[in-house]
Amino acid sequence: MNRASAGTVASVLSGADSVVIISHVRPDPDTIGSALGLGLGLVSLGIPVRCGFSGPETLPRTLRELPGAELLAPLSAPSPGEIAVAVDAASVGRLGDYESVFTAASRTICIDHHVSNPGFGDFDLVDSESDCTAVLILDVLDELGVELTADIATCLYAGLVTDTGSFKWARPASFEVAARLLHAGVNAAKWSRVLLDSHPYPWLRMLSDVLASSHLDETACGGRGLVVATVLADQLGGMSWDESESVIDVVRTAREAEVAAVFKESTPGSWAVSLRSKTSVDLVPVARALGGGGHTRAAGYSDSGTADEVVARLRAELERSANSE
Ligand code: MN
Repeated sequence: MNRASAGTVASVLSGADSVVIISHVRPDPDTIGSALGLGLGLVSLGIPVRCGFSGPETLPRTLRELPGAELLAPLSAPSPGEIAVAVDAASVGRLGDYESVFTAASRTICIDHHVSNPGFGDFDLVDSESDCTAVLILDVLDELGVELTADIATCLYAGLVTDTGSFKWARPASFEVAARLLHAGVNAAKWSRVLLDSHPYPWLRMLSDVLASSHLDETACGGRGLVVATVLADQLGGMSWDESESVIDVVRTAREAEVAAVFKESTPGSWAVSLRSKTSVDLVPVARALGGGGHTRAAGYSDSGTADEVVARLRAELERSANSE
């Protein structure tokens, strides 16, 4: 890990000819809001910026409305002297096909808050004490002397409000940042609704089917309990992939289970897995063992196989982890 302060990152960026900012695959509001907030800030200083993320998943429609979304484009290789910044990516692999764009840049910066992040830039601003990457971006913008406009504040608020679950687990510093962003002009009611409380009607039917087929296993995790739900590719119907992202927030409320898992099938047999724990299970080693990463109480990974196979693999890893405590 090449640990760097926000001040160091700001001084590297301020001398850039141009900057390419790369978000993680299956982009969420923190990775996109961080990219666009940083992008708009650098543009205000006269630095050319392009932003992007690797597919196959597309940009969720709610994020298309964020200020600065016009900076997003398919990315070609970096130009000579261009600096690459990865935002909210716990590993370089989370950049998907754009890992090669990142590593080909003359200088690379990693800005992230996942505890599992090993550091993969020439400069790593990685702080797992931060509730979201967007707060780290604000630190960099402050060091750059960028004026906090309503547009920039809105991008950063998108990351803050979603990564803290509407401030349910926010640290004190995050409430202070939130107040500052709102004073800068964020319409908090609008963005909470757009980002967290808005779905197409068929989502209600999908959620109903998914919850009806969920499964509680109170003997799993060394007796602490596991609740599992699967979202099959055809259950999403014509809805966007990101409509399955909030299912975990309902499933994890099951009181009988310390760990909740939602298996989301992107194409038949290929799964993105979301994990949440309540108070005692550290999900980072579990997700790492399965090829992923994340936070202590929220992590994820990808897997492939039948639904029974991927669930059995998780259950076995949770057993192994419970036994090694
Ligand atoms: Mn994040």
